[in-house]
Amino acid sequence: MSLSTAFPVSFEFFPPKTPEGADKLRAVRQQLYARRPEFCSVTYGAGGSTQAGTFGTVREILAEGVSAASHFSCIGATKDGVRAQLAELKAMGVKRLVALRGDLPSGYGIGGEFHYASDLVAFIRAETGRDFHIEVAAYPEVHPQARSSDADLQAFATKVRAGADSAITQYFFNADAYLRFVQDVRRLGLDVPVVPGIMPIMGASQLLRFSDACGAEIPRWIRLRLQGYGDDVASIRAFGLDVVTHLCEQLRREGVPGLHFYTMNQSAATLEICDRLGL
Ligand code: FAD
Repeated sequence: MSLSTAFPVSFEFFPPKTPEGADKLRAVRQQLYARRPEFCSVTYGAGGSTQAGTFGTVREILAEGVSAASHFSCIGATKDGVRAQLAELKAMGVKRLVALRGDLPSGYGIGGEFHYASDLVAFIRAETGRDFHIEVAAYPEVHPQARSSDADLQAFATKVRAGADSAITQYFFNADAYLRFVQDVRRLGLDVPVVPGIMPIMGASQLLRFSDACGAEIPRWIRLRLQGYGDDVASIRAFGLDVVTHLCEQLRREGVPGLHFYTMNQSAATLEICDRLGL
C-alpha cells in the first residue's frame, strides 16, 4: 500500500506541571515536528485550572512555527470570562480551538453560563465569526453521561450545527464503532471531517483505569493480554504498538481524514507508529 507523507496528523499534549516537564515536552515536540503535523493541540483543565499552562504551551508551539490549537472547556465559565479568553487567544495568533464542555472535579457545582459544548460553539461563532476553526469532541462509543446512544448523536449534531468545523474522537480500539458513528453522522446530513483520536498504548494500569471513565472501551482480548503481561513493560509496549498500528492501518484503508495522536507528552510510541505507517 502506498502511503502519502501528506496524510494529516496532529499531536495532543497536556500543559506540563513542572519546569522539568516543560523542558521534556519541548524536546518531545521537536521530535514530533519532524512528522509535519497539521497542528498540535494543548488540553485545558476544566474550570480554567490549567489556563496559564495551556496558553503558555500554545504560545511556545506558535513561536516554534507550528500551528497550535488550544482546547477550551466551558463548564463553570461565564460569558465575560470566555470573551476575555477568546480575545487573548486571538491576540496570541491562535486560529484553532477544540471547544469542549469539560468535566468539573467532583465537589464542584455545575454553575456557570454554559451547559454544553454546543453553547460554547454557538457563543464563539457569535462573538468571533470565522476567526477560529472550531473542533469538537466526538464519542464513537458514546459519551458516558449520555442518556442514550441516539441522544449523544443528536448532541453531536447540535454542536456541528452550532458552527463546529470538524471533530476529533475519543480514542477507541474498535474501528467498527468509529465507522458506524461516521455513517450515522453522514445520515444526519453532516459532512464535517471526523478525525479519529489515537491513543498509543504505553502502559496498562492507567489506560484500563482511565478508559472506563471516559467512554472508551478496551476490548476484552486487549484487556486480558495487557493484564497478562503484568509488569513486563516491554511486552506491553510491543503488543500496544502492533494493536494501535493495525487500527491506524484499518482506518486509513477506510479513508479517514487524518489521525490525531494523544501523545501523553511522550514521543517514542507515537513516532514508532508513524514510522510503521510510513508517515
Ligand atoms: P458535550 O458535547 O457538551 O456533551 C456532554 C454530555 O452532555 C454528553 O453526554 C452529551 O450527550 C450530553 N449533551 C450534550 N448536549 C445536550 C443537550 N442539549 N441536552 C442533553 N444532553 C446533552 N476535557 C478537558 O477537561 N480538557 C480537555 O482539554 C479535553 N480535551 C478533549 C479532547 C477530545 C478530542 C475529547 C474527545 C475529549 C476531551 N476532553 C477534555 C473530555 C471532555 O471534556 C469530556 O468528555 C466531557 O465530559 C464532555 O465534553 P464535550 O465537549 O464532549 O461535552
